[in-house]
Amino acid sequence: KDFRNNVKPNWCPGCGDFSVQAAIQRAAASAGLTPENLAVVSGIGCSGRISGYINSYGFHGIHGRSLPIAQGVKMANRELTVIASGGDGDGFAIGMGHTIHAIRRNIDVTYIVMDNQIYGLTKGQTSPRSDMGFKTKSTPGGSIESALNVMEMALSAGGTFVAQSFSTDLKELTSIIEQGIAHKGFSLINVFSPCVTFNKVNTYDWFKENITKLSTIEGYDPSDRGMAMNTLMKHNGLVTGLIYQNKEKPSYEQLVDGFKDEALASQPLELKKDKFDQLVNEFM
Ligand code: SF4
Repeated sequence: KDFRNNVKPNWCPGCGDFSVQAAIQRAAASAGLTPENLAVVSGIGCSGRISGYINSYGFHGIHGRSLPIAQGVKMANRELTVIASGGDGDGFAIGMGHTIHAIRRNIDVTYIVMDNQIYGLTKGQTSPRSDMGFKTKSTPGGSIESALNVMEMALSAGGTFVAQSFSTDLKELTSIIEQGIAHKGFSLINVFSPCVTFNKVNTYDWFKENITKLSTIEGYDPSDRGMAMNTLMKHNGLVTGLIYQNKEKPSYEQLVDGFKDEALASQPLELKKDKFDQLVNEFM
């Protein structure tokens, strides 16, 4: 199925987000989805535009709030594959409260973060992913805060699918997204997606020099949480691939009474009288 539409992205030429868009489209096709059973929800930022560039249901939400909307979509219609997306500022600053609770809740949503270590849409300020010493318009003397290691944070919060990729590695990124879609639970995929206009430090070349692919580490086992944490600490978070997966933990919607068997969206609209009476009695 074709997940391309006729909307031309207005990202800067060379922006890493183009590859993320292509990877989502390829992964959705490869997973056998159709546009009518995929929903892409985004927040605010350059990357937030992505929900309008994919032929599927789309919802361009508000800043830091892609996850509450995506979780609502999944709870209403668990038959849909739901992808939430946004940038590092969107998800790890204003949206961090939602991110950390969605991780521990383990609802079946794939969250793809386009991490460029800066705020691009507002023309270049430090984000929670900016390195210490990083000079921007908001930190002319260099940032005095250290960067958040999001993969370590996700592991600590009980993440069941924690992965990272690089936007130029389309093959790996597509595979990771496809695995995230297949995972029954919350999947966090952080993608190094360079901002060519405002971040002149963390460039494509910088990532190529500093990233270690997990596939090159002999004996790496993504089911071993301790190994995952040690590897992240050793490489300062700069690894790509499937870092950790726990296939045993049930997803949130599998545990919620009343949602186990039938999607809310497919239940009849009329409220049955006995259910209505029961509801009224509960609130009396
Ligand atoms: Fe991409 Fe940066 Fe341009 Fe935004 S400002 S579209 S993040 S290159």
